[in-house]
Amino acid sequence: MAAGQSPYAVVLSCIDSRVPPEVVFDAGLGDLLVVRTAAHTVDRLVTAAVQFGPQALHARLVVVLGHQRCGAISAAARALRERETLPGELPSIVAAVEPVYTGSGGEVDAMVRAHTVRTVASLRADALLSGKATTVVGAYYSLDTGLVRRVA
Ligand SMILES: [Zn+2]
Repeated sequence: MAAGQSPYAVVLSCIDSRVPPEVVFDAGLGDLLVVRTAAHTVDRLVTAAVQFGPQALHARLVVVLGHQRCGAISAAARALRERETLPGELPSIVAAVEPVYTGSGGEVDAMVRAHTVRTVASLRADALLSGKATTVVGAYYSLDTGLVRRVA
């Protein structure tokens, strides 16, 4: 493995310490190309990192992994509800999940699922990820049960 890698999937997930994709999916070294951001938010650099899997390493699957009780989405929901401006760069997380806030009634779990579906849609629309060789799916990880269920 030191000579090269061929991960079979890219996982875009949250930074939450309870949701390390390699552990969640019982994967080993070299199995997954993992990209993690707060609330699995996406910008150009994150998109580039996701693209790297299929383009450079021929990974065929991209999984967007949301999770139960997401602290980043909880904080964003609270900031939106209370019209609070978070410090530093944190408002960029709020802005990224704001499109699903109203439709989810501000409920965190519904926001996680809607944000996952929305992220999948945006990655499926990406020119480098929309080919037949790459499948983009969305999933939800339950902290309570340890189960991952597909949501998109
Ligand atoms: Zn999270």
